[in-house]
Amino acid sequence: MNNQSKSIRAASCSDDYDPNSMPVAKARALIARFLTPVSAIERLNIRAALDRVLAADVISPLDVPAHDNSAMDGYAVRCADLKTDGEVTLKIVGTAFAGVPYQGQVRAGECVRIMTGGVVPAECDTIVMQEHVEAKGDSVRIGGGHPQGQNLRRAGEDLKTGQIALKRGLLLRPAEIGLIASLGIGEVGVFRKLRVAFFSTGDELRSIGTPLGTGQIYDSNRYTIHGMLTRLGCEAIDMGVVRDDPKLLEQAFADAAAAADVVITSGGVSVGEADFVKDLLQRLGEVVFWKIAMKPGRPLAYGRIANAHFFGLPGNPVSVMVTFYQFVREALLKLSGRDPVPLLPAFKVPCMSNLKKAPGRTEFQRGVLAPDTSGNWSVRVTGEQGSGILRSMSEANCFIILPEAQGNVAAGMAVEVQVMEGVI
Ligand code: AMP
Ligand code: MG
Repeated sequence: MNNQSKSIRAASCSDDYDPNSMPVAKARALIARFLTPVSAIERLNIRAALDRVLAADVISPLDVPAHDNSAMDGYAVRCADLKTDGEVTLKIVGTAFAGVPYQGQVRAGECVRIMTGGVVPAECDTIVMQEHVEAKGDSVRIGGGHPQGQNLRRAGEDLKTGQIALKRGLLLRPAEIGLIASLGIGEVGVFRKLRVAFFSTGDELRSIGTPLGTGQIYDSNRYTIHGMLTRLGCEAIDMGVVRDDPKLLEQAFADAAAAADVVITSGGVSVGEADFVKDLLQRLGEVVFWKIAMKPGRPLAYGRIANAHFFGLPGNPVSVMVTFYQFVREALLKLSGRDPVPLLPAFKVPCMSNLKKAPGRTEFQRGVLAPDTSGNWSVRVTGEQGSGILRSMSEANCFIILPEAQGNVAAGMAVEVQVMEGVI
């Protein structure tokens, strides 16, 4: 922690450091400086390791494939027997099925019937597809023009013994689980899950199942945050709703920091409410910045409480999701041991809507990416963009990212989109 507090101070000493209006890219880079991934490792059966982060390189204990084998159903031949053009007739001396190799020798003028995955006899160097021959009894007629090595998978072509099959830091998806199984390995080391405690703040918040009084609303942020954390593979620790009371908040911050690697709160960081939270944090830990030059989500606090990282997200439901995906996601993945941290795919497409935008802040509008009837993709904005309208996140499949200096966008202009469909 000493290191961390030293670097927080160092960060705050740099020339253009303004904790009250941090450009998006700078805030990201600042956060990245404080992130030390978890190191504790659990050993798991490979099935249970799905969606976990690999904690050590997987080294191949064997050649994959283990033998030269056929990529096709056909005939294993000695290429020297074939003519460049013109036919030859070869004698079929045996069969090689997957898992049941041909045991004898293959002499000049001979060949072996072979199936996909069958071991190629030592004397053969070429596979001719069954569709390209004429078989009759125990012989086949084969035409010319079959290059040496055709349709043959070489031993060790995928992986050689001792080679790194998968690197530490990778997310174990079905492909990786299968790959580990293909090496005959049944257990792997994964990083322990990152523990993230979260709570909502606000006197107006009510829980589901209780009636709403005037001015009261149901707490939705805790549900969104729980979902986002679960998707990222974190252990989500729900600490409930905390009233806007300094004593209760102090206790909640302390409890959350003791229970988790990361503390996330929503609400209570906007003008008016922020001051006592700010004072509290300055007593319990340190604050790196308070406000980001972005919309939605301007009030976003980052710092630490005791030994935990702290993200104070805004209260508005859309701001919660935007700040989470733009800042918290990357940090949590890095802390979880992911290496490299995958970026959300981003690219430019024509925008079919007129967009209102004032220069000065980076905006993350909610968009729908879709192809037209000719298959050309473009984006349109989802109706109203108010930071309380959670439906805009539900309808969207991408963010439309408008840089700080950008003004209004006229329909037809190219804009940057960042895909969230299927990713988040
Ligand atoms: P705050 O940042 O606490 O001033 O909250 C900003 C806005 O977000 C207010 O309209 C709050 O009522 C709303 N809000 C705060 N927390 C939540 C929550 N947990 N669920 C839904 N809306 C919230
Ligand atoms: Mg509030």
